[in-house]
Amino acid sequence: MKASLIDGQAIAAALREDLARRVSHHVAARNRKPGLAVVLVGEDPASQVYVAAKAKQTVEIGMRSIEHRLVTETTEAELLALIDRLNRDETVDGILVQFPLPRQINPDHVIDAIAPSKDVDGLHPINVGRLASGGMGFVPCTPRGSLKLIKGVRRDLSGLHAVVVGRSNLVGKPIAQLLLAENCTVTIAHSRTRDLAGTCRQADILVAAVGRPKLIGAAHVRPGAIVIDVGINRITDGETGKSRLVGDVDFDAVKDIASAITPVPRGVGPMTIACLLENTLESYERRLGNASRFDVATDWLRNSGNIQP
Ligand code: NAD
Repeated sequence: MKASLIDGQAIAAALREDLARRVSHHVAARNRKPGLAVVLVGEDPASQVYVAAKAKQTVEIGMRSIEHRLVTETTEAELLALIDRLNRDETVDGILVQFPLPRQINPDHVIDAIAPSKDVDGLHPINVGRLASGGMGFVPCTPRGSLKLIKGVRRDLSGLHAVVVGRSNLVGKPIAQLLLAENCTVTIAHSRTRDLAGTCRQADILVAAVGRPKLIGAAHVRPGAIVIDVGINRITDGETGKSRLVGDVDFDAVKDIASAITPVPRGVGPMTIACLLENTLESYERRLGNASRFDVATDWLRNSGNIQP
């Protein structure tokens, strides 16, 4: 069997076009653009590339990009004060703080400080809880994009066995939750899983989110499986000596076994920013509907002392 290629680049472009249409409709009616604030602390080169790409695509679909670049020495108190201002700013619909942060800043304090109604990365405990309990929260962007790619191949996932390799809060766990909500039988494999290949071979849908180049090979894939490769690993090519990106899946070894597969690059990667923009637009649209249930929850947390004002 020759797998069909899942073209994340094209699917993300189509999603951005659709978002741009919705944005222009809103702006014509209300004269306010949806706004995404991106906060970058320090000089991490990869983060600078991501932040620039996010800002560019935000503006391209007609939304407002608000960038805050802070020096590496920024204190946690200074960053939390900025987040507080962005939480209160009526023109800001989404807040994204780029990770990793410098050592003096505790990422959990930062995640907890972002208003859940503007947490377009979906990392705040309220949104994590909503995802787990089937409520209306923000879903992290890479998992949301991965599910769109899977559903582009097969609409009804009910009863399928999904194996997710990786259990991070950012990728593995939320993808597993989304697949469970689609009525899949879900197995989460990780670094302590015994017989990884045997576990993966049970999968109708196999998602690799590990960060190990070509960990998943022919022995891991059941004939006809849908394979989603979330991994992004930079390796040096033995033949050319040049560096290039590869996924967690050995594409060449698997492409004639799977029924559909994402490449790296141009697979899951482009979906992440497109879904960030979608989350931001949805935040704007919810705000039009006035006081959201998120903010009620945030007020409760703040009053109970769990969020520092
Ligand atoms: P992480 O390091 O937080 O988690 C990796 C997970 O893999 C852990 O749960 C660990 O248990 C598991 N693991 C490690 N070694 C293993 C092994 N030998 N066998 C089985 N499981 C093993 O990483 P993350 O943030 O979840 O990211 C995973 C990958 O996805 C990375 O390559 C990252 O660059 C990529 N990523 C891509 C996007 C995108 O937009 N496409 C977004 C986020 C992350």
